[in-house]
Amino acid sequence: MRALILSDIHANIDALDAVLEAAPQHDVVWNLGDVVGYNAAPEAVIERSRDIGTMFVRGNHDRACAGLTGTENFNPVAFRAVQWTQRQLGPDSLQWLKEMPSGPILPAGGQVSCVHGSLLDEDEYLLSTEDAEGQFARTRTPITFFGHTHVQGGFAANAAGEWFQLKPAYSDDKLVESYDLDLRNSAKYLINPGAVGQPRDRDWRAAFALYDDAAGDDQAARVTFFRVPYDVQAAQMRIHRAGLPEMLAARLGVGR
Ligand code: ZN
Repeated sequence: MRALILSDIHANIDALDAVLEAAPQHDVVWNLGDVVGYNAAPEAVIERSRDIGTMFVRGNHDRACAGLTGTENFNPVAFRAVQWTQRQLGPDSLQWLKEMPSGPILPAGGQVSCVHGSLLDEDEYLLSTEDAEGQFARTRTPITFFGHTHVQGGFAANAAGEWFQLKPAYSDDKLVESYDLDLRNSAKYLINPGAVGQPRDRDWRAAFALYDDAAGDDQAARVTFFRVPYDVQAAQMRIHRAGLPEMLAARLGVGR
């Protein structure tokens, strides 16, 4: 079984389409949330995501754009993007956003867990091994996929519960690149596919991952991380035309 794992698309249709074009053959698509917010094509991204998606976990921007919670925790730029997004959404999309389930969700017969932020809280950022440590006792599956930080990679813990950072090592900065991580049966993993639509790990290319439950040595599971170039200028033009804050366009160019 091969699952395409997408997170933090954030209404960036140019990035999403480049990802789907580059994605290897897969059986299902798991979406870790923040389908909308920040970028300027929410309706197109919702439509495409619904077409392809087999499992969804909502993110904090999905929740805010759906009007389910306030935006007290949003900075002024993110808040303006939420307001703008709400004006763009048709009733059908709005209803769909409202009904997005919150994580953790365990697809694939309970093989893995999927969350937006952390196992405890969809708004929590897992950025360091200290953040990961708090998750160890709460993992119900050896593998948890998470998003929210917009940083590709994640964490692995050995049998003693010691956590290590995972970061795909890429060689080039221009082409489609992939990095294989063969998973060990004795370890626990917190894995972030990275952000499709607004990377923040200083690599502007769209990020995603593929999970294969039997591609590794001796039929063990494997996660492959990918980066793909996309038409950043097209995404930036949409932001300009929409009148969204300039900073949202600028950050796409530098991946932060
Ligand atoms: Zn996000």
